Amino acid sequence: MTFMTDNVLTFSNVSYCYEPNEPHVLRDASFTLKRGTFGAIVGPSGAGKSTLLRLAIGLTKPLSGTVTNTARTRMIFQDGALLPWRTVKENVHLGFTGTPGTKREHHKRIQEELESLGLGHLSDAYPRELSGGQRQRVGIARALVADPEFLLLDEPFSALDFETSARLSEELLQIFSERSITMLMVTHNIEDAAMLADEIFVFSGGTISHKVPVHLPRPRNRDDQHVEHIVKEVKGFITHAEKV
Ligand code: ADP
Ligand code: MG
Repeated sequence: MTFMTDNVLTFSNVSYCYEPNEPHVLRDASFTLKRGTFGAIVGPSGAGKSTLLRLAIGLTKPLSGTVTNTARTRMIFQDGALLPWRTVKENVHLGFTGTPGTKREHHKRIQEELESLGLGHLSDAYPRELSGGQRQRVGIARALVADPEFLLLDEPFSALDFETSARLSEELLQIFSERSITMLMVTHNIEDAAMLADEIFVFSGGTISHKVPVHLPRPRNRDDQHVEHIVKEVKGFITHAEKV
């Protein structure tokens, strides 16, 4: 129906602070993310990006304003956020929380997902036996087993070396296009945002200060002048906003 809202996530004038007397981490932040698109939120360290994601998934309630998200949502963290005392397949199993299905169905699904991420042989390994990239993939598998409609990614590449993150970025893009999952990635790396996103939201001074659409086909090349142009534009906005 054309009347149905096509937005997966809406922030309307959202404000938030951790302590009553401290400055607000979010101030009147507003933006919407359309279903089926890849959004990126960029901002410096400590700006409040992780807080924004916690609000988006409903782990935290806004002080004022509203957050609307009715999609089945999962989150991916910087380092995979695995439980060290559980095996790979036990960690992935945690992704089923709140999802129906028999034990047998879950096991089959876990194995499928691990195999599609190249981890089939590691299902009984412990996180300490894995590389950073493998740990991050386990985190992705855990998010994907529940067939999410919406995936939140919190600095998914920042704990990885350049080559591993480039490979993972390609895999994410493949998941995005094959499974039509709406994605919202937060990052302090503007290049990563320009490589992946349909729209970049500049998060600065506690609010979404600028929105930059990126009308470029994917996969993109970091050296492409159009990509470089977007990076420059966004950098300009951040520098400008931080000075104010
Ligand atoms: P980012 O992800 O952009 O680095 P965060 O959302 O983690 O930023 O943090 C934003 C601000 O909120 C920081 O100043 C941080 O110190 C503060 N903060 C984060 N988590 C908490 C918490 N649990 N209690 C109090 N302050 C917090
Ligand atoms: Mg963070």
